[in-house]
Amino acid sequence: MKYLIKGKLYDPIKVGDKGDWYEGEPDKTCGDCGRKYGEIHMESCDVERCPACGRQMLSCDCGPIYNVEDDIDEQTLEELKIKQQKEQLRYEAVVEYDRNAPNGNIFAILDKARSTLEKQQRLSDYNEMWQRVQNAENYNAALSIIDEYVLLLDMTKPKAQM
Ligand SMILES: [Zn+2]
Ligand SMILES: [Zn+2]
Repeated sequence: MKYLIKGKLYDPIKVGDKGDWYEGEPDKTCGDCGRKYGEIHMESCDVERCPACGRQMLSCDCGPIYNVEDDIDEQTLEELKIKQQKEQLRYEAVVEYDRNAPNGNIFAILDKARSTLEKQQRLSDYNEMWQRVQNAENYNAALSIIDEYVLLLDMTKPKAQM
């Protein structure tokens, strides 16, 4: 198994590998996921390091990371890279809103999404999104469409419990 990170393939940093928390300690098992020396950490293990940046994989800034089989064919890999690139752009296009405030108005959100997508030169994405939002049945449906293109963050404060 390999990781696809920012369009490149990497070998996972296994328990005890160079750069791993347990580097050079053959008698250790991972305290978080229980995998033995020489094994790959389990998915979403707290301790696993990202092979691209060396930081904690769960919290690093490398964007979406895909697991890839060793014998993946070229075409599937190319498709995955394109998907990853799209997801990365979405991940970088953060639009905050508060559904109870003026910026929670769907047109205000669209406006903000537009300027973000423009910066990323994704105007065709914007046009496609806009078309789809016109046909959305309600506010929530519109939001979930927009959320496919940009990372929508709902900043609405939870109502205080009285
Ligand atoms: Zn682990
Ligand atoms: Zn990373």
